[in-house]
Amino acid sequence: YSEEQTTEDYLFKIVLVGDSAVGKSNLLARFARDEFYPNSKSTIGVEFQTQKMEINGKEIKAQIWDTAGQERFRAVTSAYYRGAVGALLVYDISRRQTFANISRWLNELHTHSDMNVVTILVGNKSDLKDAREVSTAEGKGLAEAEGLFFIETSALDSSNVAAAFQTVVREIYNILS
Ligand code: GDP
Ligand code: MG
Repeated sequence: YSEEQTTEDYLFKIVLVGDSAVGKSNLLARFARDEFYPNSKSTIGVEFQTQKMEINGKEIKAQIWDTAGQERFRAVTSAYYRGAVGALLVYDISRRQTFANISRWLNELHTHSDMNVVTILVGNKSDLKDAREVSTAEGKGLAEAEGLFFIETSALDSSNVAAAFQTVVREIYNILS
């Protein structure tokens, strides 16, 4: 682990990974600023956003990295992954192909970062109930097979967004303490 640590606080680098348009930027916008963009383009992509959190009375800074749309060209650079101690591996429950591509993203993550990076599989857009193509059981099954945490979220209606990030941060903290 390459976390930076002072007496008071921790800084954890966490990366958002997954196909284009699964909602990575909106998960971060919802978590860090409680905002949502109905028609977002890659323009809202920031390099990273730092979010303060508290675990067991300790101040944690989660430095959450978002792509600027490079994933469309499968051109996420190794610098993006470098030093990451956590990852949210995101698919869209209403587009099966984004779920099918998860194993490729997992390979890429493992190629460029520590094998022990704390990873949660995130099925986003849980609000799109009528358009669902990937069941909750399938998501859970893949997570169990790969040893990942699992959660379904909606950046649109906010459900489980904070929980997704908190699960990763809490686990990293537990490993380090
Ligand atoms: P990214 O390419 O993975 O960063 O995806 P974006 O965050 O840019 O989102 C792509 C599109 O999906 C945008 O039109 C968003 O408004 C929409 N979107 C993102 N999250 C959700 C969600 O939880 N529910 C619904 N219904 N739409 C979402
Ligand atoms: Mg984006």
